[in-house]
Amino acid sequence: MNVLILGSGGREHTLAHQISKSPNCHKLFVAPGNAGTLLCATNIELDILNFDKIAETIKANGINMLIVGPEAPLVEGIKDYFDAKKEFSDLKIIGPSKRGALLEGSKERAKEFMKSHLVPTAAYQGFGKETLEAGKEFLKTMQPPYVLKADGLAGGKGVLILDDLNEAQDELENMLTNNKFGKASEKVVIEEFLNGIELSVFVLTDGKNYLTLPNAKDYKRIGEADTGLNTGGMGAISPVPFADEAFMRKVDEKIVKPSIAGLHKENIDFTGFLFIGLMKVGDEPFVVEYNVRMGDPETEVVIPRIKNDLLDVLLKTAEGKIQDVKLEVDPHYTATIMLVSGGYPEAYEKGKVILGLDKVDENSEVFICHAGTKKENDQVVTNGGRVIAVTASANSMENALEKAYNNVEPISFSGMYYRKDLGKDLV
Ligand code: ATP
Repeated sequence: MNVLILGSGGREHTLAHQISKSPNCHKLFVAPGNAGTLLCATNIELDILNFDKIAETIKANGINMLIVGPEAPLVEGIKDYFDAKKEFSDLKIIGPSKRGALLEGSKERAKEFMKSHLVPTAAYQGFGKETLEAGKEFLKTMQPPYVLKADGLAGGKGVLILDDLNEAQDELENMLTNNKFGKASEKVVIEEFLNGIELSVFVLTDGKNYLTLPNAKDYKRIGEADTGLNTGGMGAISPVPFADEAFMRKVDEKIVKPSIAGLHKENIDFTGFLFIGLMKVGDEPFVVEYNVRMGDPETEVVIPRIKNDLLDVLLKTAEGKIQDVKLEVDPHYTATIMLVSGGYPEAYEKGKVILGLDKVDENSEVFICHAGTKKENDQVVTNGGRVIAVTASANSMENALEKAYNNVEPISFSGMYYRKDLGKDLV
């Protein structure tokens, strides 16, 4: 099979690395890719929102399967675009339709979906410009902290958690009438604050049946002890030590089953990854958000633990035969540590030469995953905020983290920063 993966981060490098091992993988392309994907695939420079260009690339390279890494093309309807063209009727696509992607593209829609399918989530109400005053009144009925969420995609920045009622009312007004988050905050969801600990659950589904993939916990804040600004993710571990078997059974019964049944009931074309962000409150799971693709950096710790031929699993999913797959999960712990550019998640420079990558002894338990990198004059240079995810696995979380940290040591670039406290909150 010839496969095209859309995206350029650590998620796409990890997927490419795993898929390239499949005996069924003939040619593998990543668009636009990074310096890491060059090691296992061919990079193609293209805009992942330019569907016509992607269609040309698919034709020119005899692509049989398209895997959509990030959410933006899905929310823009890439699946529907190809479904509408007869000449692509044989193309297998991993990624949901636009209606499915709305579960990530609109928080209000996601909340309505959860409500109608009885999926536990925080109590909420949605507001628009015309209901601003009602929103302010609603806030008065809530207990602090107040959670305000821009309805649309806001690059992970559209959620405000505020302690003060007046501030919450002002911010609601800012979001609805002053376009604080642009179009994304034309509608705002106000929801109850959930006091608990977060984890992520990943499901691969054909819209009817599903496989639950290994769970993971990521570290979102830039600073140690979870302080400072939110980032795309500073590292992750899998499995999550506090998500024991009894809790995961509850997740399956109360969250995953009704979510997938809801997709089926609403006749939503959903072939791909459903990433469920959860809060564990006491012993109970609540959904914080749905995403309609894998997470990054969670992919870096989830996918290497799957021992099956990944391409075969994806093919079965696309063919509606996911129930035939028996998932084999490596019980070892996997940890990934994100090395980021100085200044990230605010302004940072690109083009710093990355040294020492060749000094890491990569093997079946250590993988240097590229995120924001590119090849320039035979050197690998930084090309984004999150640059490299050093990933390692071992028989315990502590050993996996230690191995990952040891393999960070040979790597350096000007301004490099990483968190040194991953996993410390869990021991
Ligand atoms: P992401 O960056 O994961 O894409 P997002 O912008 O899509 O985030 P959410 O995941 O809904 O938005 O919220 C972002 C973060 O805010 C969550 O990871 C969680 O830490 C916090 N959060 C969201 N909703 C709640 C809630 N009801 N109670 C407590 N914390 C919450």
